[in-house]
Amino acid sequence: MRGVFEEDQIIMDPKQRLRHGHGYSQSEMYAIKHDHLERVPDAIIYPKEEEATSLVQTASKHSVCLIPFGGGTNVSEALECPQNEKRMIVSVDIQRMNRIIWIDAINRMACIEAGAVGRHIMEDLAKYDLTMGPRAQQCRIFYSWRMNSNERQRHEKA
Ligand SMILES: Cc1cc2nc3c(=O)[nH]c(=O)nc-3n(C[C@H](O)[C@H](O)[C@H](O)COP(=O)(O)OP(=O)(O)OC[C@H]3O[C@@H](n4cnc5c(N)ncnc54)[C@H](O)[C@@H]3O)c2cc1C
Repeated sequence: MRGVFEEDQIIMDPKQRLRHGHGYSQSEMYAIKHDHLERVPDAIIYPKEEEATSLVQTASKHSVCLIPFGGGTNVSEALECPQNEKRMIVSVDIQRMNRIIWIDAINRMACIEAGAVGRHIMEDLAKYDLTMGPRAQQCRIFYSWRMNSNERQRHEKA
């Protein structure tokens, strides 16, 4: 991995590994408070979009388990590292995959990298006089968000 990624893209710091090994469920909060979180990722990688394929290929070649990490806010223990997993576990933090690839203002569609956060997307969409649906600021994971034209909203209110 060292040959493929820059030094600041591979993190081994224990505190950051701890943060990437849990979400916000009550049992996870309890485990952290009482020092019972059984396992956390062995490393964290911050790939850019164009590096994702080589990351998966390298992990597959060396039998490394990858766990994507968005904001770490799930309440379903989805980031829990399995106890019986024998392979090295690497958390793949997608926060550097945060670009808007394209915006189709006519059809209100956009292609946005998986790690983009709502408030940044909102800022970029505003340049096209577009906005997101409700609660966009809270979301991290998304696959398809419908955009509404500010112009149309103004029209409907009138
Ligand atoms: C206080 C609070 C209130 C909430 N209220 C609501 C609510 O009202 N409605 C609701 O629906 N949800 C609610 N949630 C849950 C919230 O929607 C989740 O926190 C959110 O969906 C998880 O997003 P995340 O990016 O933090 O994912 P993470 O917690 O980082 O990851 C969740 C799972 O998705 C996987 N994953 C992450 N990124 C990717 C990717 N790019 N590709 C593939 N897999 C990926 C991870 O490996 C993990 O398995 C709430 C959470 C909190 C803490």
